[in-house]
This record gives sequence, C-alpha cells and structure tokens, in this order.
Amino acid sequence: MGTKAYFRGIVEFSNICTKDCYYCGIRKSNRNVKRFTIPEEDIIKSAVWAYKAGYGSAVFQSGERSDPEFVDMVERVLLAVKEQTNGKLGITLSLGEQAYKTYERWRKAGAHRYLLRIESSNSDLYKKLHPEDHSHAKRIECLKSLRKADYQVGTGVMIGLPFQTIDHLADDILFFKKIDIDMIGMGPFIFHKETPLFQHSKKWYKTDKELLTMGLKMIAATRIFLKDVNIASTTALQALKNDGRELGLKAGANVIMPNTTDTKYRESYKLYENKPCTDENASQSRGSLEKSIESIGETIGFNEWGDSPHCFTRKKF
Ligand code: SF4
Repeated sequence: MGTKAYFRGIVEFSNICTKDCYYCGIRKSNRNVKRFTIPEEDIIKSAVWAYKAGYGSAVFQSGERSDPEFVDMVERVLLAVKEQTNGKLGITLSLGEQAYKTYERWRKAGAHRYLLRIESSNSDLYKKLHPEDHSHAKRIECLKSLRKADYQVGTGVMIGLPFQTIDHLADDILFFKKIDIDMIGMGPFIFHKETPLFQHSKKWYKTDKELLTMGLKMIAATRIFLKDVNIASTTALQALKNDGRELGLKAGANVIMPNTTDTKYRESYKLYENKPCTDENASQSRGSLEKSIESIGETIGFNEWGDSPHCFTRKKF
C-alpha cells in the first residue's frame, strides 16, 4: 500500500446509545455520562470543515440508535453534506446495527463506506463482552447486508481483551479474509472504570507497552496477510503512546482519523479512559498530525478519498 496515509475527519455526533456493551464508557447504563447530540447544522459544519481542510473523507460516528427520527436525521445530514461539498467529500458511517432498508437509504443519501466492528470473531468471547440480547450472528448478518447495499465494508476487533487468547486474534485475521472485508479498524482495548468489564482489570492487566506491541503486531500481521485492504491506525494506539498512531502507520496501517468534533463535546464521548486529543481543536490536530506523519517519511493523500483497493479488485470477480 506504499507510504501514503489518508485522513478521515471523524465527527462523533452523539453519545446516546441504546446498547449496553460491557466494555464501553457510553453504554446506556452508565448514568455518569452527560449525554449529547450535536445539532444537525454543527454536524454538517464539522464535515464541511474536514472537506475544506483537504481531508477527502469524513466519518460519522455515534452511539447506536435505530429510531425513525435518528434514521431521518442522518439521511438529512448526508444529503446536506453531499450538497455543500459538491459530492466531493467521501463519507464513512459507523452507526452500528441497522435494518437493511436503513443501510440502503443512507447509501442512497451519499455514504459509501460503513464500519461495523465485530469486536471479536469468536462468538463465545463476544458473549462474555455483551448482554444476552446482543447477538454475534446479527452482527455478521449486518456485515452481509452492508455488502449487499453496496458499501465498502469495514470491521475490526479489540486487542488485549480479558479472556482473549492469541489464537482468538489469529482467528480474527482469518475472519477478515473469510468475509472478504475492505477496511479494518482495530485497536488495543483500554478499560473504562464505569463498565462491568472493569472488574477483570486486575487479573487481565497489561502494561501500555504490552498493549501497544500487541496492537502493532496485529496491524503488521494483518497487512502481511491482506495486502490491499485499508487499515486504520486508531486513536487507542495514541492513548498508549504519543506517537502510537505514527507507529501504526509504520506497522502497515494507511488511514488516520483525526477528530473534527467540536471540542466542547469530546469529553463526553469516551468509550475508554485517557482518550487523547479531547481538548485539541481540529486545526491543531491537523497541524500536528501533518508534521508527525511527514517526520516518519510518509505523505498525506490530501483531497483524495483513498478508497480500499481491495473493493475494486473484489468487484471484478
Ligand atoms: S460499543 Fe457502541 S453499541 Fe456498544 S455501548 Fe458503546 S457506543 Fe453503544
């Protein structure tokens, strides 16, 4: 994949979630989180800012909701962003499990990539991380629906989870291959105090260095195995080491997702603790990232979508 990195300006527009994943800081049962949804016009502004900053693509992410108001709102935002950027901003969604019809509507409104992490390809491990009513099989079905709705489809896993073995991680990479995935967003798992999984933190404690190394090895092994997929160097790597994301690029990743959410909302969007850059504004993020990426000898694909080459290869068959 060479040494070019692509930016996706990420807009985390709401931390309201109907689900209760045991590891997540914004799960619905956490009463200590101040809930927010950014007004539509501000979501649009953040995406247009990313476009003007040359990012090429934006990612819209939020807690999982599937009520009609939410589905309509996302559709309106997509249409407005496409209009205000003359169709030139690539859009990825990361909005969880939805009905096929919803995926179809959002695809028609302008999104062309969708990231839905499987979290772990092992259904027994998945069960340990989620309440009874969260289904591994449904998640796989959603990944298939996304493919059918003509998205470039991304998935990913958490690395360094309680109960997780190296065999699980190796199987995760085989899973990426089996479902013929286009993009991967995976990162080290960091405990959040206000979650049920935190009770296992002592037993499964890993140093930042161990976690970072596992994260980088997963990127490297995946890149060797899957040569033409997009792999994101995630913020969780940076939470463990200042230059973690740059190390991720060196290990084989080719996508970076700078935060373009208004800083006043970022403190309340913490899926894990010590999340970096919560007080750095979007233009500071851009400036410091640009410098550090150039310092490792990579270039940035400004104003390019940077789609996964795998998507085009698989469509030929
Ligand atoms: S991981 Fe996603 S779906 Fe699960 S509680 Fe957190 S935001 Fe909601």
